[in-house]
Amino acid sequence: MAGRPYILAETNWKSVRDTRYDVAILPWGATEAHNYHLPYGTDVIETDAVAAESARRAWERGARVLVLPCIPFGVNTGQLDIPFCMNMNPSTQAAVLADVTSVLDAHGVGKLVILNGHGGNDFRLMIRELQPKVRLFLCTINWYACLDPKPFFDEPGDHAGELETSMVQHLTPNLVLPLSEAGDGRARRFAVAGLRDGWAWAPRRWTRVTEDTGVGNPKAATPEKGAKYFDAVTERLAGFYAELAAADPEQLYA
Ligand SMILES: [Zn+2]
Repeated sequence: MAGRPYILAETNWKSVRDTRYDVAILPWGATEAHNYHLPYGTDVIETDAVAAESARRAWERGARVLVLPCIPFGVNTGQLDIPFCMNMNPSTQAAVLADVTSVLDAHGVGKLVILNGHGGNDFRLMIRELQPKVRLFLCTINWYACLDPKPFFDEPGDHAGELETSMVQHLTPNLVLPLSEAGDGRARRFAVAGLRDGWAWAPRRWTRVTEDTGVGNPKAATPEKGAKYFDAVTERLAGFYAELAAADPEQLYA
């Protein structure tokens, strides 16, 4: 039995040798506390599943995409006082990304999508620095921001709220505690108006913001909401991969 041909970890040299891939997809998550009720691996579970399903849909439309293994550590410098929030500094991520990029570039892969699933990760500055050094086209997507979640949820929430809880209830229900055991995800806001309103920015000290590590109330979450949102997100991403796969990197401007 062969694995899925668009998942690198499941495929084999026989198939890789005979396939010309247009787009590589690098899922990037985090390993961190998600309120009381969701697993530490939430961002990895979600991002892996989003990558695999969107790649499947693109593959079935003829796009040759290949999902790389998910990088499980994200930027958690605001959570260093929460045990086992496995911080990986931005400079370390940049070094990891530079290695992955140079491997793919040497193998003649044309395009890389960094599929991000963690709010503390930001690959844009890294791409700005790396892009002039490689022929491989680089781009990044925060999958949780690729379409407006408001039509799908009462209150999506930021971290371990209704959106993420619904997603994990849909994807790995056996890993979610009953919602009666979840905290309410209540978060303190910045006392300084500019920071509170979002036109000034600073990272949040998580343990000053929330008691249960969640930001956003998970109580209205259901697996049905998660399934609908997952379907819409993966469909949108599949369309992007297919369009990107067919695009000429020298002709990206209309
Ligand atoms: Zn998360």
